[in-house]
Amino acid sequence: MSYDRGTPPTDWPGLEMADLTRLNDDIYFGWLANEPNPTFWHWCRALEGVPADQKVHDGCWVAARTSSHQLIAREPLHLEPSLLWKCCGLHGWVRNGRWASA
Ligand SMILES: [Zn+2]
Repeated sequence: MSYDRGTPPTDWPGLEMADLTRLNDDIYFGWLANEPNPTFWHWCRALEGVPADQKVHDGCWVAARTSSHQLIAREPLHLEPSLLWKCCGLHGWVRNGRWASA
């Protein structure tokens, strides 16, 4: 496999991000040019074991916007309410620039 789990893709068309920031091994966020809220990458465990030809991209990185969340602070990042990715059930808060699992 050629993908690198430690490097979320930042070259998907329309998802070229600035300031990619690591929250933990599974969650990163970055900033799209025209959106006030961050966009997240998470390593989706629901995709582990799915054959590569059935996925959009090698590896298990999934991008998600947070446009319905309230951006309390950009630096350090604080979003409300909690983030929940239904694809795999990953759920937690980003406060004070840190991820806290729900
Ligand atoms: Zn997921």
